[in-house]
Amino acid sequence: MLFLMSGTDFDLFVIGGGSGGVRAARIAAGYGAKVAIAERDRFGGTCVIRGCVPKKLFVYASRFADDFEDARGFGWTVGERSFDWATLVANKDREIARIEGVYEGNLKLKGVTTIKARAKLDGPGHVKLDDGTRITAKTILIATGGQPVRYADIPGVDNVCVSDDIFELKELPRRIVVCGGGYIAVEFASIFAGLGVETTLMHRGEKVLRGFDEELRDGLMEAMAARGIRLMMKTEIIGVAACPGSFNVALANGETMETDLVFSAIGRAPCTGDLGLETVGIETGAKGEIPVDDYSETSVPGIYAVGDVTDRVNLTPVAIREGHAFADTVFGNRPVKVDHSVVPTGVFTTPEIGTVGLTEEVARATGYEIDLYKARFRPLRNIVSGRDERTLMKLVVDAKTDRVLGCHMMGPDAAEIVQMAGVALTMGASKADFDATIALHPSAAEELVTMR
Ligand code: FAD
Ligand code: NDP
Repeated sequence: MLFLMSGTDFDLFVIGGGSGGVRAARIAAGYGAKVAIAERDRFGGTCVIRGCVPKKLFVYASRFADDFEDARGFGWTVGERSFDWATLVANKDREIARIEGVYEGNLKLKGVTTIKARAKLDGPGHVKLDDGTRITAKTILIATGGQPVRYADIPGVDNVCVSDDIFELKELPRRIVVCGGGYIAVEFASIFAGLGVETTLMHRGEKVLRGFDEELRDGLMEAMAARGIRLMMKTEIIGVAACPGSFNVALANGETMETDLVFSAIGRAPCTGDLGLETVGIETGAKGEIPVDDYSETSVPGIYAVGDVTDRVNLTPVAIREGHAFADTVFGNRPVKVDHSVVPTGVFTTPEIGTVGLTEEVARATGYEIDLYKARFRPLRNIVSGRDERTLMKLVVDAKTDRVLGCHMMGPDAAEIVQMAGVALTMGASKADFDATIALHPSAAEELVTMR
């Protein structure tokens, strides 16, 4: 129950309790602002409830298959194995409920008023909740995130599930068709294949992961195929019909295919529908995103937006950084711009990808003259286990200044390793700085400082 006072109710009203909104609310409250945050569903948002965290738990689950297999080469006899999907889902649910509680608890500890309701703008300085309550605030932050895009015009689109549904599946399918070639499609193709599901990955393009280093794209596709994932590139779905006990997928080339589950991951779109943007005159961009300036302010003074709803770099740490910078700027009297130029990112396939900075292709297109350093090797563990998979590493270096422009890796722990390479790139490290660093042996990461 909200008790509204005369005058302005809050210094800051945040719409959306995900990564960006929660960080902004907590930091602003820490500066002494009177803050409220509305969340229509569960605090934690996409990342905690239906994104990064449950996804990573599924990734861990899927990788035990490799561990059991590889153990043999190290002398272990691994007995009968079985996997129980319901146990994984129940334990995942318990963990995300715990994190959700931590998010909400931390907000309350900082004195933030938490409201479980959908909110929308209702004219300058005003928001309206589902139940009709009107609230005034000096500053409003929109942090409503994004949602999965669904196929527009194909018959049987209701037979296709998206990432919001996948975490709640009642049982593991025997066969799955995953559509798309971005982060979510490749990660979930790996997850399901690791869990023993007969997996097909269908993508409209020639290669997965557009925008990533070409050699990593090729390397990942090779590794996925070697792991038994059926890759169907240049393939488009035109319909999905429900049959008793299965689905029939119709393809543009005239073929059909039977499967137990169709999962599409063809991008995400900003959540800006029914937000009342027209009541303040904010116009959205082509994908529905809210345009903002370097300080995350919209075209309307006093109304800001951070995270996926702005469609800058759609990753949790970026939403958090934008939310924090907003609070510093508006309530901490310390204007902070977020630098989106060096953002490390991981793709949690098996094998994993980690990447930071410019790819070879982008560096060349930007006009850099570049030197390339590459390593391709079989990690020690794989030699003894008999696994043939290779690790790839690549540094893109500015030939004129020796500055490392990009670091790209595919292989075990790639995300962990590239996070630390991100520190070096953020500091402007040169290839000579990498070379001057003494290797940590035996590790895969040491290749980054020994490539000549
Ligand atoms: P969100 O976290 O989406 O939060 C927005 C919140 O606003 C939601 O809780 C929503 O319910 C609420 N909301 C919306 N409209 C209203 C309204 N009108 N009133 C009240 N509340 C509202 N990123 C990574 O960095 N690493 C990963 O490994 C990773 N994995 C991912 C896996 C999946 C399957 C998905 C879908 C995403 C993944 N992401 C990952 C992306 C990451 O989840 C997002 O970039 C991040 O959550 C964006 O944070 P946000 O605060 O902008 O929005
Ligand atoms: P992405 O934007 O990464 O990829 C979308 C994929 O769908 C692309 O391969 C695209 O092809 C394809 N596609 C787009 N439209 C269509 C269509 N109409 N028909 C068929 N294929 C289509 O989106 P995701 O859904 O995978 O993920 C959304 C975002 O969430 C990511 O971009 C990332 O920012 C974030 N995320 C981050 C993760 C991480 O950090 N590990 C994990 C998961 C999500 P094309 O390349 O040809 O355009």
